[in-house]
Amino acid sequence: MNYIHLCPKRAPLFQFSELYVRSNIDMKLEVLRHRAHILRRMMASDSVTRFDFLVIGGGSGGLAGARRAAELGATAAVVESHKLGGTCVNVGCVPKKVMWNTAVHAEFLHDQADYGFKGGHAHFSWPFIKSRRDAYISRLNQIYQNNLDKATIETIHGYAVFTDDPEPTVEVNGKKYTAPHILIATGGRPSVLSEKDVPGASLGITSDGFFELESLPKRSVIVGAGYIAVEMAGILSTLGSKTSIIIRQGTVLRNFDSLISSNCTKELQSSGIELCKNSQVKSVRKTDKGLEVTLITKDPEKEEEGKISTIQEVDCLLWAIGREPNTNGLNLKSMGVKQDERGHIVVDEFQNTSRQGIYAVGDVCGKALLTPVAIAAGRKLAHRLFEGKADSKVDYSNIPTVVFAHPPIGTVGLTEDEAIQRQGKENVKTYTTSFTPMYHAITSRKTQCVMKLVCVGKEEKVVGLHMQGIGCDEMLQGFAVAIKMGATKADFDRTIAIHPTSSEELVTMR
Ligand SMILES: Cc1cc2nc3c(=O)[nH]c(=O)nc-3n(C[C@H](O)[C@H](O)[C@H](O)COP(=O)(O)OP(=O)(O)OC[C@H]3O[C@@H](n4cnc5c(N)ncnc54)[C@H](O)[C@@H]3O)c2cc1C
Repeated sequence: MNYIHLCPKRAPLFQFSELYVRSNIDMKLEVLRHRAHILRRMMASDSVTRFDFLVIGGGSGGLAGARRAAELGATAAVVESHKLGGTCVNVGCVPKKVMWNTAVHAEFLHDQADYGFKGGHAHFSWPFIKSRRDAYISRLNQIYQNNLDKATIETIHGYAVFTDDPEPTVEVNGKKYTAPHILIATGGRPSVLSEKDVPGASLGITSDGFFELESLPKRSVIVGAGYIAVEMAGILSTLGSKTSIIIRQGTVLRNFDSLISSNCTKELQSSGIELCKNSQVKSVRKTDKGLEVTLITKDPEKEEEGKISTIQEVDCLLWAIGREPNTNGLNLKSMGVKQDERGHIVVDEFQNTSRQGIYAVGDVCGKALLTPVAIAAGRKLAHRLFEGKADSKVDYSNIPTVVFAHPPIGTVGLTEDEAIQRQGKENVKTYTTSFTPMYHAITSRKTQCVMKLVCVGKEEKVVGLHMQGIGCDEMLQGFAVAIKMGATKADFDRTIAIHPTSSEELVTMR
């Protein structure tokens, strides 16, 4: 254990013994008073364990921050109430990517006859891949624990709550911990609807529950239009579950560039997913044959009463309607840590909260909810606090991200609409292409590849790149480097294409 007690016990006791040798009565009283004072201080110092850096939340941001701080010489501790690795490792990126990879296998199986592999019917076992996936996650949990141990970072298992002590202090399982620097990296959780909002809502699951499913549902209904809804619907449908998506408007991924939003909506439909547009769930009921999901559909263009319809025999209703920050039980109000109206912690560009000595990173701040962003913020903060790098902070511009849809989406920088808003329509030029990737030249199953470059100014600086198609997930990272470096369309054009690939289109657009 590597933590320190800032009130050493030995020194005061030594003073006490010095005083004790004097023999007049006043002195004895003084000694007793002094002794009581020392005992009080000792008790106080014993009940609060001190570190240089105390991190609440052992997910992407918290672990990265603690490990970097320890590398820089700080004594650090991580409080985790659940499993090390947080959302990403346990109920997010990692198990999701395993399932996406599984679904990609199913897609290739569709195409194998077209590529000359005849005969044989592969049987898919959900329990098999689930147990392999769970075992992989358990190994990762252990690796995270080992990494903390190797770095002599104290792991405190339990739920952290700030106390009302004058010095920022955290209590876990009845024990108190403090540090001059406390990082909140508590992440978020899926939003749920109350029974009052939608009767029967609690019969559904969230993305957390998706990873607990023991078998492939026969009939799935996903509610939501964000990337988690798109990814989960894609996985379920590709693996053979009859799937519907309920969206309130006409397209999915409405925060993305319009090309991506419209193309992804089309791809979902052409892959066989039923899209219930302009619809909301009115109620959910359990029947002998599964759930009955009642919808209300209302075309916003038409002055009409909403149409009621039902989807029967649903064995997986999944709410993917957004995420909320894990701030409720932390007692932040009494700490003077400011939150926005949705409960996210308000931080400045250096991850400082409104209370000195308390910082926040990652999903709990509500900005760019991605693992690499949380990790970068945790590390940058550690460099600022423990290496004296006063300007160490994350640059939140041009963050590349992938949606593991079918086919995958890659996007970085400004959408066309954002560029127009910032620069004016006359200063924005876009280049767009849409084609069938060569992979599909001989398959009966088809997907499209669409790409858009958003350029601004006379020099046509590339400020946005948006694409959906086979391979776009792995294609994006390198282009993101170029865009971060300020590449122009002319730089793209000067680069010799790699043939035959889909990515060559990005350097040959006219
Ligand atoms: C289904 C899904 C798929 C995703 N896919 C991707 C992806 O492909 N790529 C990507 O970059 N991102 C993805 N994300 C987002 C990514 O998982 C998060 O952005 C990332 O995990 C945020 O890290 P964090 O450190 O802020 O929080 P978390 O990783 O959520 O960690 C917070 C930790 O704090 C703990 N905690 C909370 N409150 C307390 C408390 N009071 N005391 C002690 N411990 C506490 C929690 O148990 C948790 O372990 C996905 C998310 C989901 C839900």
